[in-house]
Amino acid sequence: MTVTYNFSAGPAMLPTDVMLRAQQEFINWQGQGCSVMEMSHRSKAFIEVAERATHNLRKLLAVPDDYQILFTHGGGRGQFSAVPLNLSAAGDHADHLVTGSWSKGAVSEAQNYLQADVVGGVEVVDGITQVQAQQNWKLNDKASYFHYCPNETVEGIEINTVPDTNGVPIVADMSSNILSRTIDVSKFAVIYGGAQKNIGPSGLSVVIVHNSMLDKARVETPSILNYGIIAKHDSMYNTPPTFAWYLAGLVFEWLLDLGGVAEVEKRNQAKSDLLYNAIDNNDFYANRVALQNRSRMNVPFHLANPELDALFLKESEAAGLKALKGHRIVGGMRASIYNAMPIEGVKALIEFMNDFAKRNG
Ligand code: PMP
Repeated sequence: MTVTYNFSAGPAMLPTDVMLRAQQEFINWQGQGCSVMEMSHRSKAFIEVAERATHNLRKLLAVPDDYQILFTHGGGRGQFSAVPLNLSAAGDHADHLVTGSWSKGAVSEAQNYLQADVVGGVEVVDGITQVQAQQNWKLNDKASYFHYCPNETVEGIEINTVPDTNGVPIVADMSSNILSRTIDVSKFAVIYGGAQKNIGPSGLSVVIVHNSMLDKARVETPSILNYGIIAKHDSMYNTPPTFAWYLAGLVFEWLLDLGGVAEVEKRNQAKSDLLYNAIDNNDFYANRVALQNRSRMNVPFHLANPELDALFLKESEAAGLKALKGHRIVGGMRASIYNAMPIEGVKALIEFMNDFAKRNG
């Protein structure tokens, strides 16, 4: 059987060891005679699972004590509404940096609740896209918060430094790069992410929120999106996505065993360097993102001759390299190489790319 490597942008591949463990425990979790998904979220056994996962995530990201970690519903987009509802009043302004599809999506949702001002974005210089220098953004000192997406999953654009907003609370959509690199949580008011890339199954959102953001929600905020209510009930105000939470816990244990986020960051750097070098060193392929903004997680690339796209996809799929089709907005190819992608997968992709170029160049 050909070894398969799954380059899906999300839901994405999860670590094989985690999947095997979940399979082993699926029917009879820790001798309980049932699956973890079949037991009450209020049972002692599940509460232990939940607390361990929360504790381990706190450890992995060095989350300070004055932040709450919430496991909640609605994926990434759910937070596009939760953020304005929890952090602002009607009529307030929020600053939004728009660097790609997802930060744009956040603006259109926020617009339903407040005045979402686009304060900066990307520019194209000689065909290469880069994030505008911060001095060209039009930040508003009176904004309720500043929202940005440090990793644009579709366009493969990553922002490596946390903006300086002069005290305006920073909200980051880290759906596609959370846990891929070390971060200084204390610089953020809210960090959120849909789980389905580096954390676990889809549907779950993880929110890391500073205590000062827990009691500002508008009265009309649905309880299941209300940070204060969720925190007060340890993410169990209503039934949480228990299986997803359990699986996220297994991923956190896998990461800790690997050596934590600093170690996985080194691996992510090595994997993405390999792939970008292979693209840059072959005229057959191109990536059009400026070096300083190239994503370590999502690597989009184009074939010099787009007429070969269909053949590339057909042959790569047959070679066990799955889901390389680029997002329809961008076209071309996209290799998503999250934490779970082993370096062997990246090497197999490069080997295929070089061979394909040789045969069709
Ligand atoms: N933000 C980012 C950066 C994403 O990549 C995605 C999903 N790909 C979302 C938000 C939306 O997540 P969901 O589909 O879970 O709502």
